[in-house]
Amino acid sequence: MLLFTYWNQTNSMDFEEFRKRGKEMVDYITDYLKLIEQRAVYPAVQPGYLRSLIPDSAPQEPDSFEDLMWDVERVIMPGVTHWQSPHFHAYFPAACSFPGLLGDMLSGAIGCIGFSWAASPACSELETVMLDWLGKMLNLPEEFLAVTGNGGGGVIQGTASESTLVALLAARKKMITQMQEKYPDLEEVTIISKLVAYTSEQSHSSVERAGLIASVKMRKLPTDEKFVLRGEALKQALEEDKALGFVPFFLCATLGTTSSCAFDNIVELGPLCTSENIWMHIDAAYAGSAFICPEFRPLLNGVEFADSFNFNPHKWLLVNFDCSAMWVKKRSELIGAFKMDPLYLKHDHQDSVLITDYRHWQIPLGRRFRSLKMWFVFRLYGVKGLQEHIRKQVNLAHEFESLVRQDDQFEIVNDVILGLVCFRLKGSNDLNKNLIKRINEMRKIHIVPCQLQDKFVLRFAVCAPTTESKHIQYAWQQIKEIVTQLQQGHQ
Ligand code: PLP
Repeated sequence: MLLFTYWNQTNSMDFEEFRKRGKEMVDYITDYLKLIEQRAVYPAVQPGYLRSLIPDSAPQEPDSFEDLMWDVERVIMPGVTHWQSPHFHAYFPAACSFPGLLGDMLSGAIGCIGFSWAASPACSELETVMLDWLGKMLNLPEEFLAVTGNGGGGVIQGTASESTLVALLAARKKMITQMQEKYPDLEEVTIISKLVAYTSEQSHSSVERAGLIASVKMRKLPTDEKFVLRGEALKQALEEDKALGFVPFFLCATLGTTSSCAFDNIVELGPLCTSENIWMHIDAAYAGSAFICPEFRPLLNGVEFADSFNFNPHKWLLVNFDCSAMWVKKRSELIGAFKMDPLYLKHDHQDSVLITDYRHWQIPLGRRFRSLKMWFVFRLYGVKGLQEHIRKQVNLAHEFESLVRQDDQFEIVNDVILGLVCFRLKGSNDLNKNLIKRINEMRKIHIVPCQLQDKFVLRFAVCAPTTESKHIQYAWQQIKEIVTQLQQGHQ
């Protein structure tokens, strides 16, 4: 009763009001997602559009819920790019599912900040078990699973970018320690100035950025004609760099590159990394979800050579953002790099082998109860439901690919392996720039381009889980109509 009174006095919304508004919000969300196709997928607003639509400062007195929701439609929705529309084919998917939304809602309500086991035991323990469940779905080598007790395990990071940075920083610390054991007089800054990390010229910009943040040289290696990083390119770079006195220590390989969904050859790269004492991190941000299907699992062969592996269930596995799953073989190497233990964060059970204090595995201290939404998604879809989702989207990408292939004005630029098709009009880059500009100006579908070697290319990704064959046909029809208009000289 006391609590109830307190709550009423300090919130504009009491329990019963929340019950009512919560149901209304679920109705709003349901209608939003159900009717999303009626909205233009890409907004028509100009930069700075929003400021003039709302007051200069926060209201002194509470607004009403009705006014607020009215403004959601008046102010927010006109400026939303509708990532969950089946006409959205840009970037990569951003997962959204009803089980994921419900799990996230509960996580928000529990509102714990699970930086240590004691800060909320269920938050830490469910995370460890969910990462084991997911690792088993992918058939990851046992060393990555916490349940085997070999020192490995998984963690949920916010993003793939953070995972790469965390892996890089752990690898840097490991190499500094090894070198100082050999040469005790060497200063850390001197060692860092000699370190060199590798990635391919096709890897995501976050990898280069991780190098910038960690102040280490990040060398971008050339790929083959299919945009794949091969062992030979790494071998050559290692020879050159070692001859110059550099110390190779880290490789970030990509499975499913952002531009064209190419797969670096980790079967070639892995053994080289092992023999050269190089930490191999695998960034499979988008493609990783597909490895739950046995037919796509061979793409992950070679993961046994990796020290760390990461992918984003928040991209393609129906777990709402943010949820980036990362596994390491040796948790001690992460904890060795990041551990800080002030008195106010210590607790009685921190030495127990049964628990994980995830604050040592990441950059921030605070963390949300993100494993709840994984649990909801895994249980309410089942592995079979998730596999169906992946297979359906891959089939839709092949449907789009075959439409493009049937038209000899166009060419396909990548091997279509998963849900991404890279295509272009045969002809100049300017022609293709004009095409994509017109496509996005029409706002009926939304796609983004990429550069593959000297070619300006259009990327078509199957994104929303509600995408069906009719949306693929619709998208192709839109593109063809615009091509016809361009040919007829319409501006
Ligand atoms: N790595 C790859 C291969 C990606 O495709 C992306 C984004 O699409 C990222 C990293 C960055 O992902 P995040 O936003 O989770 O950092």
